[in-house]
Amino acid sequence: MQAAGRYSVAYRDGITARPVPPREGLDQSVPRFRSALPEEGMDADKVIEHIAMDADAGLSQMSSPNYYGYVLGGSHPAGVAADMLVSAWGQNMGSSSETPAITGMERAVCDWSLELLGLPANCGVGIVTGATVANTQGVMAARHALLAKRGWDVEERGLFGAPEVPVLIGDAAHSAPFAALRYVGFGAARATRVEVDAEGRIRPEAFQKALKDCNAPPLVILQAGQINSGAFDPFSELIPAVHDMDGWVHVDGAFGLWLAAVPELKNRLAGVERADSWAVDLHKWLNAPFDAGLCIVRERAPLVASMSARGAYLPGPTEHWEPSDSVIELSRRARGVPSYAILRNLGKSGVREMVLRHCRLAEYLAGEISKISGLKILNKIASNQVSICCSENPNTNAKTMETLAIVQRNGRVYPTHGEWNGHQTIRVSIIGYATQKEHIDLLISEIKAAWNEVRERNDVS
Ligand SMILES: *Cc1c(COP(=O)(O)O)cnc(C)c1O
Repeated sequence: MQAAGRYSVAYRDGITARPVPPREGLDQSVPRFRSALPEEGMDADKVIEHIAMDADAGLSQMSSPNYYGYVLGGSHPAGVAADMLVSAWGQNMGSSSETPAITGMERAVCDWSLELLGLPANCGVGIVTGATVANTQGVMAARHALLAKRGWDVEERGLFGAPEVPVLIGDAAHSAPFAALRYVGFGAARATRVEVDAEGRIRPEAFQKALKDCNAPPLVILQAGQINSGAFDPFSELIPAVHDMDGWVHVDGAFGLWLAAVPELKNRLAGVERADSWAVDLHKWLNAPFDAGLCIVRERAPLVASMSARGAYLPGPTEHWEPSDSVIELSRRARGVPSYAILRNLGKSGVREMVLRHCRLAEYLAGEISKISGLKILNKIASNQVSICCSENPNTNAKTMETLAIVQRNGRVYPTHGEWNGHQTIRVSIIGYATQKEHIDLLISEIKAAWNEVRERNDVS
């Protein structure tokens, strides 16, 4: 354990100086580990040394302030340190009374997150592995409630012969809620995909029309934070119309829901608190180490009814509840503890500062990139996501991809690829706890240098 601690600290101390992407690929890394399991064991100290040494070149520096790929958090060190204790303690979080201290910390994470996000204090909350599972559980809670209202006990009777539940979802939704529809037996292709605008937001007129076509109370899946544009569905316009029909609104807020914690930004998702369930990650914007997220449901009963392995068990809103009644797993690690440490370390003001800083840096980045001739920003900056592409014909897409390839190969910063409104893009997600203006300045100069190289190459040929 001491050796692992030393290697961990050394890795994180040196992370900014390393190239951001892995220095070697699958062909080189995998065989270092994937060989026949020897008959004889190896000393545990040697195992840790082997892992630390042989993994070194095959790691991606996702916790670096210069990492901008996908939408990932940076594993805040306070959370990482707490995660080491979680492993050392070896608590099984299936039962609250067996491990009261963990229960205290995890309930604090639920209470504090609800308060920061501006959601009702008595919501049901499950601490899950991430937004994919949080979306799935939210859809399961909706499935329970919508079918119970129509006299159908879905947990006991299943979906064969059940009344049909209409499902509406925005056409620019993430793949995760579609996966949720697949997992819970609602079917991804059965959902009505509602038309969106250029920022990926559901168009209210199209939405009202789709609602009218529903012949029963629908499940509606909205989005807080589109991965390419960072945009939000117009919640205050859409949600009341669904409730007028007795429907259920679930919000995929994997990263974007955290803007609700920031007074200067929360009007961008006004009305989101009126939904019935929400999926939000802890390992994205809160920068908890992987993996952690929250499934939040306004009424605890449908969450417990759909999660509890104990059958027809429905606790009242204030009654004692077991962690295993709000997530799919029975046995699980004390997954909430790292987030407890991060929230204690940052405080409310630290969380707000971080989210606001990232959103301001996204605006700064977009402004600076727009000044570079031949490059443009494809999205209105709504949060922390920036979609960049080349604007010069011919071969705009090819030039964008060439530019991204150079930036990634140089490895000093690491954005990844996106596709938005028919364009290939360099997509930047500003979400790492350590990312500051100086890092964004490096990102700008790296993109600018790569773009100049691409231009010269194209001029010559
Ligand atoms: C990342 C993301 C997800 C999936 O979350 P995981 O934590 O990777 O399971 C879902 N929706 C959106 C909008 C996301 O950005």
